[in-house]
Amino acid sequence: MTTFVLATHNAHKVHELRRILGDRLGAHELTGYDGPAPVEDGDTFEANALIKARAAHAHTGLPALADDSGIAVAALGGAPGIDSAHYSGQRDDGANLRLVLQNLEGVADRGATFVCAAALVDADGEYVVRGEWPGTVLAEPAGAGGFGYDPIFQPAGESRSSAELSAAEKDADSHRARAFVALTEELRRRYG
Ligand code: IMP
Repeated sequence: MTTFVLATHNAHKVHELRRILGDRLGAHELTGYDGPAPVEDGDTFEANALIKARAAHAHTGLPALADDSGIAVAALGGAPGIDSAHYSGQRDDGANLRLVLQNLEGVADRGATFVCAAALVDADGEYVVRGEWPGTVLAEPAGAGGFGYDPIFQPAGESRSSAELSAAEKDADSHRARAFVALTEELRRRYG
């Protein structure tokens, strides 16, 4: 049995990941890691996920997991991208999504992708994998669930926004689910 630490200051993420991984964790355990936050100055989701996992591993000595995520809007050249959490200059989900809608006014191409990089750092080395959830940006917000850009994101093949999906529906398909399910393949190789 191994304990993995998840580098996040957000208890909600530990619960979300436990839900996503469910039986895939087997006898292993996942705990939150609340140590000093490193500077996330990478240029990519992958680089920033690795920065967080490296810091957690260095601090605890335990195998460390971390993620970095956001939304990439095609017509905005991939923005907000790694700046998703503070696109408007503030850590304010409402202001951030309003700025995306404003920047897309009159733009026909509404294609967007939620992206999550999931990283593992342990004594055996570093591993990082990306999960993507393609869709489109709606004309206006819909739904009260989820967080961040969920009210303006409609996953491909869906008629609802991701804020209108249940947590279980989102967990079954999301960028974070895709990245961490892929990461568990590597966890299984290393830890059984
Ligand atoms: P972080 O990876 O927790 O730093 O998330 C970065 C930002 O990306 C969040 O603040 C949200 O604005 C956005 N984001 C990431 N994942 C999601 C999601 O599943 N739904 C909506 N917004 C998301």
